[in-house]
Amino acid sequence: MATTFDRPTRIERLDAATLRIVWGDGLNAVIPLEVLRRNCPCAYCKGEQVFGTAVLVPLVQFAPGMNELVALEPVGNYGVRAQWADGHDTGIYPWNLLRHIAENMTESDTSTRKNEQ
Ligand SMILES: [Zn+2]
Repeated sequence: MATTFDRPTRIERLDAATLRIVWGDGLNAVIPLEVLRRNCPCAYCKGEQVFGTAVLVPLVQFAPGMNELVALEPVGNYGVRAQWADGHDTGIYPWNLLRHIAENMTESDTSTRKNEQ
């Protein structure tokens, strides 16, 4: 389960396409919403996983507004639920997933807007 260590001290919108998440240990991540959406943990986006293998192909395709965040709603002590402008709102991001995304951002994640399809 998520620990309090994983819990950000601050989540804020930098602009329409970017979120800044700050943790108490000093990690300060600027995460494009597109990256957040791409890492949506729900079964619809990830496909159904059985023993680590995707048995359902993820149905991710570009929809207008899919990388536009409408709201981030806290889910208890556990994480946040993201509501996207295309109506998708079943993805709950536990704190440790946000942390994982922040720590595994690559160069390409910060410049993915050009290969959006
Ligand atoms: Zn999803």
